[in-house]
Amino acid sequence: MSDKPEKFIDENGIRLDGRRVDEIRPMTVEMGVLSRADGSCYLEWGNNKVLAAVYGPRELHPRRLQRPGEALVRYRYNMAAFSVEDRIRPGPSRRSTEISKVSGEAFEPVVMKQFYPSAVIDVFAEVLQADAGTRTAAINAATLALVDAGIPMKGLVAACAVGKVDGQLVIDLNKPEDNYGDADLPIAMTEDGEITLLQMDGNLTVEEINKGVEMVKAGCEQIFAIQKAALLEKFGTAEEDEVLEDAGLQAEISSEENVSEAVEEVEELVEEAAAEETEVPEDEEVEEAETMFEEDVAEFEDDEEENGEELEVVVTEVSEEEITSESEDIESNEEEGDKYEQ
Ligand code: UDP
Repeated sequence: MSDKPEKFIDENGIRLDGRRVDEIRPMTVEMGVLSRADGSCYLEWGNNKVLAAVYGPRELHPRRLQRPGEALVRYRYNMAAFSVEDRIRPGPSRRSTEISKVSGEAFEPVVMKQFYPSAVIDVFAEVLQADAGTRTAAINAATLALVDAGIPMKGLVAACAVGKVDGQLVIDLNKPEDNYGDADLPIAMTEDGEITLLQMDGNLTVEEINKGVEMVKAGCEQIFAIQKAALLEKFGTAEEDEVLEDAGLQAEISSEENVSEAVEEVEELVEEAAAEETEVPEDEEVEEAETMFEEDVAEFEDDEEENGEELEVVVTEVSEEEITSESEDIESNEEEGDKYEQ
């Protein structure tokens, strides 16, 4: 293990890996990388390399584990033996069992389990290379793997940690910051900012936690933008692809920088293109309707002339006797009704 650095942040506020305190590491994602899984995603975040695979929904065996009204979501986090400096003993450990449990629960408010009663949705997160922040990296990949598998979800989940080094809060800790820092606070949240995972290692004051949560929110917004760019790239329509190509944004979207800007730009361009296609200038629209109406009126008048007749109102005479017998019937029906009500 490397030695503790003397300083984590220099006088210009720059961290050892060149980032500012509120900057996340570069992240790239690729969806649908496994052909035998129902959904998958490979994610690199700094030096972390994570693969997420989703199988299901499928029938759950043994049956006693089935939930009648909803699907069971199982999440398994695993670190490959070769993913860290000192080889990890293969198989489940206390740490991986705990991370699996809390990470699975991080998807609780978004996965619409009610659509698949008695079924199981298995999420496997495999850490191939670790450099701190693997549970958060795995959650970011698992979200996209779930979408790739076609699991109905109310929204995405993103995760990022905040910690403290040299007395300052920093987001998305790297290995030295995680190992030698004063605190590590991994957080996962939905797009509405609902926190679905929060763990803490070390010490932070209440003010620091509150400020840290805000910093993570900003970091997660960037992650949501990266996730959405990946979704647009995989599931975008042909028209969206054309717009992307026309704007020369395809390459930019795949790169780590400017992702949120690129997504915004694409959304604007797609909206503009859609508006151009459907919008009819108001004057033209009114003129068109007026012409159609005038044509209809002219056609109707022609028909009338040809047939030589006008619309007639037919009035049938009703005798006084008929009116009296009708009102007697109504009265007797009302009396019957009263009887039932009593
Ligand atoms: N780590 C390791 N061996 C282990 C567990 C963790 O070398 O058995 C390293 C690994 O790089 C990991 C980092 O320590 O990313 C931080 O681990 P932590 O338990 O904080 O989880 P993470 O930050 O990866 O979610």
